[in-house]
Amino acid sequence: MSHVFPRHTKTLPLTVSHGQGVYLYDVDGKAYFDGSGGAAVSCLGHGDPEVTAAIKAQLDAVAFAHTSFFTSAPAEALADKLIAHAPEGIDRVYFVSGGSEAMEAALKLARQYYVEIGQPQRRHVIARRQSYHGNTLFALATGGNAWRRAPFAPLMVDTAHISACYAYRGQEAGESAEAYGLRMANELEAQIQRLGADTVFAFVAEPVVGATAGAVPPVPGYFKRIREICDQYGVLLILDEVMCGMGRTGTLFACEQDDVRPDIIAVAKGLGAGYQPIGAMLCSADIYTAIEDGSGYFQHGHTYVGHPVACAAALAVLTRLTDGGLVARVDEMGKRLQAALEQAFGQHPNVGDIRGRGLFRGIEFVMDRETKAPFPPERALHKALKKATFEAGLICYPMGGTIDGQRGDHILLAPPFILDDSHIEEIVTKLGTAIDTVI
Ligand code: PLP
Repeated sequence: MSHVFPRHTKTLPLTVSHGQGVYLYDVDGKAYFDGSGGAAVSCLGHGDPEVTAAIKAQLDAVAFAHTSFFTSAPAEALADKLIAHAPEGIDRVYFVSGGSEAMEAALKLARQYYVEIGQPQRRHVIARRQSYHGNTLFALATGGNAWRRAPFAPLMVDTAHISACYAYRGQEAGESAEAYGLRMANELEAQIQRLGADTVFAFVAEPVVGATAGAVPPVPGYFKRIREICDQYGVLLILDEVMCGMGRTGTLFACEQDDVRPDIIAVAKGLGAGYQPIGAMLCSADIYTAIEDGSGYFQHGHTYVGHPVACAAALAVLTRLTDGGLVARVDEMGKRLQAALEQAFGQHPNVGDIRGRGLFRGIEFVMDRETKAPFPPERALHKALKKATFEAGLICYPMGGTIDGQRGDHILLAPPFILDDSHIEEIVTKLGTAIDTVI
């Protein structure tokens, strides 16, 4: 009997034995292709010798020193390297232990910024309906998944939600992508005006929507209009790149492809690539200066902020991604994966959309391609797909994302950046076996 408290108490997990390259192995020796890197975490695959060597070296030097007294060489070098690659204006990095912590820090920093500059009436956050920003209470309240919030609803701060930019579902017949993007972005302005023009402190969005909708990129021009609206109303733009950042979409920061200048960015998952738990909140020089010139103190913190071993691991990961050229191959490999998925499943009567950027791809399943009607929730197709793909030796991330308030069925693929063409074939073959079993 196990004393571990698992997330799903009715379907107990297998025990993992080891990992190598793109594969994980259970204790019976069965290999699983890690087609989603867990939940878009393991961007380098498993057993990377450079990252494990960096961790061991840091452990030999010092494992932990509290940030009230010390910074560390890996934390400083990692921050320098992140800022060197970050969008213009981003200047400071606050290290945490994961994605929820990064988003919680981002939201609290944005609120504190307005307190520091004498606008405490700004107390509203606006986010989007198809979104997940983490499980701590503020991050959970910000996310758009009503079913995740439900048990905790009386404890939540009030947040407002607008539509996500989700062309497959929202773009009307005859409407251009640009017109659709403008219509969606303008929902932000309407929501700001509804709440009161000077009462909103932040708008939060994932540049490419991850688990709640299955790798949905924005249409061209959407984020340009979002930035204009944020500037007009003095609203800070927080981009959640916890899942889509760190090279996953083909550029180190996903927002680079939309040419948008955020005020705050949250990253995690691929930052530590699973080798250590680490996340980061990056902010503009303006925000940092307001704190420095004001109270001088960000009223937020955790014991493991800037953990030296986690930072050493992330520095080695980031070096592999940038200097090692791994991000540079994501776009090309992603296009090949998209083409292979389209060739295998593009005509399937229950595949509605195959989409994404880089090695961040989603498949949306529908009952009917014409009407785009989702499968009934009681069918729980995504759960059946999760089981069937796992049995076929492929780990993907099936999600019942939200469609008009209902659960839909998506699969998220986020394979390690080291994959080759034979691995793409393997993904498609195993996924095909699972789809044939379930539908
Ligand atoms: N933000 C996004 C976009 C995510 O996908 C996730 C996790 O899936 C989080 C935040 C929360 O990250 P974590 O699970 O590391 O707390």
